[in-house]
Amino acid sequence: MHHAVRLSMRELSLYIHVPFCTRRCSYCSFYHVPSETERERSFVDALVSEIDAALAELAPVSLRTIFVGGGTPTVLAHSEWERMIAALQPFMRDGLEEFTVEMNPEDVDANLVRFLHGLGVNRASLGIQSMHPVGQKVLKRCDPATNRRAIDVVMGEWDNVSFDILLGVPKTVRADLVETLRILLGKGPKHLSVYGLEAGGDMAGEVERFFRAVDPDRVADEYLDTCSLLAGAGFDHYEVSNFARPGFASLHNRAYWDGREYLGVGPAAHSMVGGRRFLNEPSLDAYVARRGSEHVAARIHDDGGDHKLEAAMLALRTNQGIARDQCDATVLEELVGEGLASAHDDRVRLTDRGYLVLNDIVLKLLSVTPC
Ligand code: SF4
Repeated sequence: MHHAVRLSMRELSLYIHVPFCTRRCSYCSFYHVPSETERERSFVDALVSEIDAALAELAPVSLRTIFVGGGTPTVLAHSEWERMIAALQPFMRDGLEEFTVEMNPEDVDANLVRFLHGLGVNRASLGIQSMHPVGQKVLKRCDPATNRRAIDVVMGEWDNVSFDILLGVPKTVRADLVETLRILLGKGPKHLSVYGLEAGGDMAGEVERFFRAVDPDRVADEYLDTCSLLAGAGFDHYEVSNFARPGFASLHNRAYWDGREYLGVGPAAHSMVGGRRFLNEPSLDAYVARRGSEHVAARIHDDGGDHKLEAAMLALRTNQGIARDQCDATVLEELVGEGLASAHDDRVRLTDRGYLVLNDIVLKLLSVTPC
């Protein structure tokens, strides 16, 4: 009987978006609002009611992974974390394999990490970005000494730690990125997420000015430097931007790319549940005014798109790749000839250089057959 109940459980990955930041990084185009104690309390009130309603709707649910990101989740007071975890507790009992919190180095101290560990957090993702003093100033991030201190505190608490790194930081050079990697590798992380600074569609003012100083060719060079350095250091390049020691690929990230179900809660969070995609409105004001099922009713659904094609596009971002028969044979031959893709054992994967031009080649490679 016990077995039958377990089998009917819905395994889910949960993303919690905490949209508060104490200040704005130069490159930021993510939804966030200034940190403020009262607002954070109202946010957690609304979040707890969304968690209750959204998980009740999907019951019985067993959370397999939780990822708390932002924004800056580590600005929240301990009491807010406790309320959040109390709401999650009924769904965390069995089978929770990975519980990650994104941590801002400036917020990290022994007290915070011990507290989060006690709540069940078993993985830390630390927003390092760069170990170069001028680079960090340009990015409007903390100084490298603060990064070093945070790394030591976090690594004293957890084994499973990831660092975020940015490529193409203005006023630094390639050798500075290599130095950042050398310092970080010396700390023994299990995972690195590496993002190239890339101008997006909707930028204005300061952010737009910041991106004018970013050189896309240097981003590309630094990406290839990173790939070869980390391969040499024994990391698996398991997704375009993600590298892990064997056995330490993020289960939460993999859930997205493998097309598993995930629920996002909090303003601007995206979900894919029961084959349907939806997102929450990117507005904290609207969010805090809602309770319970109003959150579910207010979701913005996005049911367009070709799910099979999207799944193949996601798989091509990873080292799983796709089956050879999903590819256009002529295009594949060309890409292999140019060193942008490889084909072994009937699987097609992109190379590091292929990942750099992912968006340009992916649709050409997939032989899209009309239904
Ligand atoms: S921490 Fe993230 S969300 Fe906040 S300002 Fe910086 S880049 Fe933006």
